Amino acid sequence: MAFELPPLPYDYDALAPHVSRQTLEFHHDKHHKTYVDKLNELVAGKAEEGSSLEDIVRGAEGPLFNNAGQHWNHSFFWRCLAPGGGGQPTGEVADRIGSSFGSYDDFRAQFKDAAVTQFGSGWAWLTDDGQGGLSVMKTPNADLPLKHDVKALLTIDVWEHAYYLDYQNRRPDFVEAFLDHLVNWDFVNQNLAG
Ligand code: MN
Repeated sequence: MAFELPPLPYDYDALAPHVSRQTLEFHHDKHHKTYVDKLNELVAGKAEEGSSLEDIVRGAEGPLFNNAGQHWNHSFFWRCLAPGGGGQPTGEVADRIGSSFGSYDDFRAQFKDAAVTQFGSGWAWLTDDGQGGLSVMKTPNADLPLKHDVKALLTIDVWEHAYYLDYQNRRPDFVEAFLDHLVNWDFVNQNLAG
């Protein structure tokens, strides 16, 4: 069965003004769709055709890894965003952020630093070390925590296509809008529990 582009979990206008309809149309309907289409081309008639996305991500290298990784990353990223999100976390993750980073403000500063300093294209993440501790990491290009046996809780896409139409070169402004207005903490809590 072919891999499929998941629909956005909200309307194209729902994240404005922080992320515009135009950005979501290009980012989801064109960029993410292209990764899915290329992934399907690459697995067609191959041993990986019946594999799970996670197994391909763990086992593949080169173009197959890049397109599988980007499909996983984007499918996860859309769910990390919600209208009216961001700001102080609630629930279990609020306690875990407090114990791991000292305070929400310390987490916010570390996450922002990772997202802003990822050189070139990539992703910044909140991850769970499985021992009660949470960490911030950043990955280049299509790389992701799953490839390193680390559990992802939250991510931001810092490829230019994620923000250039709305923020041009001002990546720090996009990262702040994500943190202050878009993070779906309910989804992060689900990931922590799951
Ligand atoms: Mn992207």
